[in-house]
Amino acid sequence: MDRIVSGIRPTGNLHLGNYFGAVKSFLRLQEEHDCFFFIADYHSLTTHPSPDDLAGSVKNVLVEYLACGLDPEKAVIYLQSDVPQVAELYLLLNMNAYMGELQRVASFKEKARKQPDNVNAGLLTYPVLMAADILLHKAGKVPVGKDQEQHLEMTRNFAKRFNHIYKTNFFPEPVAYNFGHQLVKVPGLDGTGKMGKSENNNNAIFLGEDLKKTRKKIMRALTDAGPTRENQEKPQEIKNLFNLMSIVSPQPVVAAFEEQYNQCTIRYGEMKKRLAEDVITFIEPIYEKIHTLHNNNQYLEDVMKEGARKARESAQQTIEEVREITGFKKFPR
Ligand code: AMP
Repeated sequence: MDRIVSGIRPTGNLHLGNYFGAVKSFLRLQEEHDCFFFIADYHSLTTHPSPDDLAGSVKNVLVEYLACGLDPEKAVIYLQSDVPQVAELYLLLNMNAYMGELQRVASFKEKARKQPDNVNAGLLTYPVLMAADILLHKAGKVPVGKDQEQHLEMTRNFAKRFNHIYKTNFFPEPVAYNFGHQLVKVPGLDGTGKMGKSENNNNAIFLGEDLKKTRKKIMRALTDAGPTRENQEKPQEIKNLFNLMSIVSPQPVVAAFEEQYNQCTIRYGEMKKRLAEDVITFIEPIYEKIHTLHNNNQYLEDVMKEGARKARESAQQTIEEVREITGFKKFPR
């Protein structure tokens, strides 16, 4: 049985990228492994949300986790800030994390470019906090999307370095993981990069949003004027549309549109209509559950309490050993 840890930042609602990059693996893993799934509220502070936005987003992510099928009877579902041990491990790991390596991280460079007025230390040390999240429960596997691959490599480096400095093999070196497949990157609708909640809202398909809005967004997804030569190479926005379709639609449907593309007979309106139908068929049951769960505050509170209790227990065990290893010994010494 493997130890699994993964989290999602509450910076908005969950979208299809989160689902296919991470949550889908969570559902399979919780059946067989020792899983810790958390809501990464400390991480979301790098973009300075207001207290109300933060609280609201935490509730949304919890509701959406549960609506997707995460089961508190099978996995530990908890809020990162309910487990203060993570902050201590973050502090200790920061002492062995170097400016140079942190500044070279692609996501840091991208964020620094996107929010030049808010290049805070939390943004720089994001991979260290992520390493602390994972190592806190000594996880071996981390179900994440492709966008997190580099962060996972850093987690391995921090674990290796700690083990080397303190001449121990205490921390495992965790690997990024997607259940039975390669890591997934779900593209956004605007023809550029990945689907993400910090991008503009029309780029992402959210699990809890009004389904009419979802349909509209998909119908407005960026396309080009259409192929003019048989078997022509697809431009990026069309590749994205096909990628998205291959994630949610049956394979023969994708193959039929591929064929039409190659024959220059494709009508993007038709393709997007079909894509919207398949996305909605997939999201609808989750959407319904989200709206039922939102009113069940007592249940949500119970889930969080129980998750916090179990996560703290595991975290406390790790942190006591880490203190011992690093020389913070109990009296008498
Ligand atoms: P975040 O929303 O950045 O906190 O990411 C939470 C999880 O969703 C991580 O495992 C990410 O790798 C995954 N994820 C986010 N966006 C995408 C995407 N567009 N494609 C695949 N996985 C994603």
